[in-house]
Amino acid sequence: MIKKSKCLFCSLGCGVSFRTEGDKVVALDYDKADPINLGALCPRGHYNLELINHPGRLMEPQIGKRKVSWEEAVAFIRQELKLFNKEEIGCLVSCLLSNESALAAARMAQALGIKNILTAGAAADLEAYEGNKWQVSGANLATLETVEQSEALLIVGDLLSRSPVLAKRVNKVKYGKRGNKIIVIDPNQTHTTWFATNHLACKPGTEAVVLAALAGELPYTEAENISGVPSAKLQQAAEEFRVAAMGTVIYVPQSKKQRNDLGVYYAKKLAAASPNKGYLVYYLFGNTLGVNTIIDREAPDHPTYHELLAKIDRGEVKSLLMFGEDISAGHAELQKRFRMLKFVVFAGHFESESPAIYDNSIILPLATQFEGGGSYLLADGTIASCQPVAPKVGSETLTNICGFLAEGRLDDKVITDHSLINKTKNESDALAEVGKIEPAEGSTGKPITYFGNNHLVSNFFWYQVNKNG
Ligand code: SF4
Repeated sequence: MIKKSKCLFCSLGCGVSFRTEGDKVVALDYDKADPINLGALCPRGHYNLELINHPGRLMEPQIGKRKVSWEEAVAFIRQELKLFNKEEIGCLVSCLLSNESALAAARMAQALGIKNILTAGAAADLEAYEGNKWQVSGANLATLETVEQSEALLIVGDLLSRSPVLAKRVNKVKYGKRGNKIIVIDPNQTHTTWFATNHLACKPGTEAVVLAALAGELPYTEAENISGVPSAKLQQAAEEFRVAAMGTVIYVPQSKKQRNDLGVYYAKKLAAASPNKGYLVYYLFGNTLGVNTIIDREAPDHPTYHELLAKIDRGEVKSLLMFGEDISAGHAELQKRFRMLKFVVFAGHFESESPAIYDNSIILPLATQFEGGGSYLLADGTIASCQPVAPKVGSETLTNICGFLAEGRLDDKVITDHSLINKTKNESDALAEVGKIEPAEGSTGKPITYFGNNHLVSNFFWYQVNKNG
């Protein structure tokens, strides 16, 4: 039997099929009917089968190293949590979890009076999400259809290493019609710049500055001084994008970019500046948009990540619930800070090394979307719904876990509002902030691509001749 689901290793949300025999998922298949990826999967997408069948998956709750029943684990957590004031408890919700999980976590926090609830994801994603909240009139989210129909794509960062499946669509734009443009802003040569018709190789970290200039908000000369991209090149790129009958700005949040929030803000400004343009932000964590939108809506006064860490450092937060993401795994500095915690709960798919090193910790096996199902808000604002394709075998959904912890006091609210949060950003503040960006250290133009390998190309005789001639 073939069962369909979704890959959520990035916010593209490719369709993925599985072959099942009885309860067992025995093979990965390619869902050629899926409108997002038309059956294609990137290397990460292939790991979804391993995620279901991996022998290291957690199947029983653990108190310390001792395996216990769900009843004992839940009773233990409830008991422990009662030892803390509500202000002393923190809760992190992974941006890989479903909308229903995020809502259940927010409802549990409300039921137990926990105010320190926030999301856990890639730092650059979270910064970009903040920028996405800033309202820009006339800026519309693009769809994959409009990406494909674009005559100009303006890509900020290495989109094709984030979502290689999109190479097909980028190629369609590049070769679909003579004169179509692929403009790429990136300090480095990457998988994506390989396709560029116009590569704006800015100084590292200055992508937001280039976008502000292309959007007509910052003078080209000022942008050249900061970013190193010649004014004439900026002007040419702005014109190419402006005159295209249809175009899309695609922003890839990455930690080497400074101020991903301003980058997204100016990407939206650029999309709004000429007719028939849209924008997309490709987050690394599949449900960054959904989980953040829900937590922002349900707990509008939640602390930021840095505020939570400061509270842990000051000993104000003494207990931490980490749902779906152990943010201290492999992070020695955070582990050192978390050792100050008196109680840690980690709900995850695999055993993480760090809860075991904290004095008082408990691990709960968490179901993936393949066992628990759920809905997810993808990069283009569409909602992907997953039905379970495999039995839970010892794990539980976060919705159930939160219900247990709140002692069944969760209401069954259905998520009906998926609209994005809107906030106002003062235009002159944004301009002052983008003008203060300074290039980061680092080389530019480093060839790091592996398909169309530049090392290989540079060894070709014809390349040498043309380059030198
Ligand atoms: S492109 Fe993203 S959603 Fe698609 S298979 Fe790869 S990781 Fe999964």
